[in-house]
Amino acid sequence: MQLGEGRGGGALARDGTSEDDVFPPPPSLPSLPLQRAGRHVTSTTTRMLLMLFWSAGPDGQRPRDGEALPEPRAAVAQAVARGGREAHENPEFVKIVEVGPRDGLQNEKEIVPTEVKIQLIDKLSDTGLSVVEATSFVSSKWVPQMADHTAVLQGIQKSPNVRYPVLTPNMQGFQNALAAGATEVAVFGSASETFSRKNINCSIDESMLRFEEVINAAKDRQIPVRGYVSCALGCPHEGHIDPSKVTEVAKRLYELGCYEVSLGDTIGVGTPGSMAKMLLSVMQEVPCSALAVHCHDTYGQALANILTALQMGVCVVDSAVAGLGGCPYAQGSSGNVSTEDVLYMLHGMGIQTGVDLSKVIKAGDFICNALNRKTNSRVAQARGTLL
Ligand SMILES: [Zn+2]
Repeated sequence: MQLGEGRGGGALARDGTSEDDVFPPPPSLPSLPLQRAGRHVTSTTTRMLLMLFWSAGPDGQRPRDGEALPEPRAAVAQAVARGGREAHENPEFVKIVEVGPRDGLQNEKEIVPTEVKIQLIDKLSDTGLSVVEATSFVSSKWVPQMADHTAVLQGIQKSPNVRYPVLTPNMQGFQNALAAGATEVAVFGSASETFSRKNINCSIDESMLRFEEVINAAKDRQIPVRGYVSCALGCPHEGHIDPSKVTEVAKRLYELGCYEVSLGDTIGVGTPGSMAKMLLSVMQEVPCSALAVHCHDTYGQALANILTALQMGVCVVDSAVAGLGGCPYAQGSSGNVSTEDVLYMLHGMGIQTGVDLSKVIKAGDFICNALNRKTNSRVAQARGTLL
């Protein structure tokens, strides 16, 4: 099935009510984030909004053909009609941000040898990936697994076509990262107050002060900064996280100067419904072109959530080779969505990534052998069995 016709034409043309379960009605009518969004965003976003409006209608029914729509439904419907003629609505290119060597390995209980980390990054550098998050300059007291950050960053063979961001939670980390030769950094915030306190040991407001310092120092040196918002679709401590909270944190990171803000479903509880609601809210304040999604597959929803984000115009996806990862602060949280599975889906949709899937599978084989474990990638499992 062509994706462009799925959510919009296909779903709306039928009278089935199942969509209402997937897209619960929003509490109020959001304004359209159209000016900031790209062409494909306009049509898909309006389609989704229209679905939300219909599902939120007074009788819960979509209007019959020819029936006059009350404003602003009519305006949205016109936009949808225009968008409906577009042949291609998915992004043509999606940037994959490989987070396995950092987000993935950080959560390994056994210390992974530095040489294994370096070899993994070198193999990933040779796949066509343009971004490989290399390590974290966090205190080794907090995350012993990342204590070899300098040796890793200096040991890898840096490809001119690949960027290697490193996590820098504070100025100390930033300075150490600079000394080690980092040319791009990332800060890690949270949409959950409790998660922030437990994970990075400070309130959201305090974390923003730290990030401001790091981001300003990075700006002075023309070093790009990426921002993360964890718990964007749920928190292990607080449960539901209101989209407005995610929006507030994402907006602050963007306004501080992060060129890209990655919205993380840290514990993998999101669904296409909660992803759509959250993104609709965030897109009111942060340009779609500056957003990425970061999904974990705890409830088996990661690919569906990513697909939803793509249809809403997001063009950057975080993933981890072999589905490495988990979250030490979130019990029951499984790994990141695997890079292999994301690539398989994207390529099947005709979306370019510039990444060689078979080479990523080989890199996944390497790290799974080194860790003595089975891959979390369904694609790698299938290829391993079928070939
Ligand atoms: Zn993750």
